[in-house]
Amino acid sequence: MSKILVTGGAGYIGSITTRHLLAQGHQVVVLDDLSRGHRHTTPPELLRIVHLQDTAQVEPHLEGVDAVVHFAAYIAVGESTREPELYFSNNIGGSLSLFAAMARMGVKRLVFSSTAAVYGNPEKVPIPEDAPFGPVSPYGESKTTVERILGQLDQFRGLRSVALRYFNACGAEPENGLGEEHEPETHLIPLLLRAIESGQPVQIFGTDYPTSDGTCVRDYIHVSDLADAHVAALNHLMKGGASAQFNVGTGRGETVMEVLRVVEEVTGKKVPFTIAPRRDGDAAELVADSTKLRRTLGWEPRRSELRQIVEDAWTFFQRGRG
Ligand code: UDP
Repeated sequence: MSKILVTGGAGYIGSITTRHLLAQGHQVVVLDDLSRGHRHTTPPELLRIVHLQDTAQVEPHLEGVDAVVHFAAYIAVGESTREPELYFSNNIGGSLSLFAAMARMGVKRLVFSSTAAVYGNPEKVPIPEDAPFGPVSPYGESKTTVERILGQLDQFRGLRSVALRYFNACGAEPENGLGEEHEPETHLIPLLLRAIESGQPVQIFGTDYPTSDGTCVRDYIHVSDLADAHVAALNHLMKGGASAQFNVGTGRGETVMEVLRVVEEVTGKKVPFTIAPRRDGDAAELVADSTKLRRTLGWEPRRSELRQIVEDAWTFFQRGRG
């Protein structure tokens, strides 16, 4: 059993990873400022409401901590293009403050939430981890910068870290009352479900991409499988493993229209939609090469078949939080 500090543990992926860590018998402390996370997602006795940029406030929570899982960040690409300073301040500034506190408290293991957005518009798909950085949004830039800083901290502080580059996180754990609750919501699957409920058409952003049906291809990964990747990354670090970066995706891509059809099949309802222009910054195709994660950490997706993802998202959507 280890003592794990989870920053941003009241958010979507953080709260579900916290459940997985608890299920493995770890002791968990959650730091969250609740600016985007939700209080109800975290067992109250584990939650500490702290601003990550307040280094002095963070430090005492690192006492006796074996490793940190660092989710706390803003995640909306569109918002980051309108408010880049907010993203640099929160995502880079928050991380730096945390790393300073960890250095002072002697905590030397970290799992970091990174993103496929570090690759921008990749030259090669499926994308391997050694593809060059090329972020095209302040959000992607903020995550790239933190990954670079972690490279330096490995060398000069002995901080061992695993950066997990998420592809399209989705799905839910309705059995735990946990799922996507972003406001405003910008992600495809919850928006398709909302369109069914409200009758307001969802916009399909672009049908002229060079893909099988003209809509963008993405690699949809169930949040439970993402959470498992964090547990595997922690085990790697606890065993003395070296710093590394891993894509977390299935290696399989689906188009926006394919997702829409699966939503219609699962719900038995028509999704009202309109065709809209391309959304700024969208790459045609983002699919992970996840061989490295599978080979190095023995991770395999278990719940990421698209039908299962949509069933879980739909159950959570109908039932709401537990
Ligand atoms: N998308 C769409 N309409 C929406 C939201 C998303 O057509 O209202 C498309 C978007 O262009 C992308 C895919 O769905 O190709 C997944 O988008 P999302 O925002 O869920 O994740 P991202 O790929 O941006 O991380």
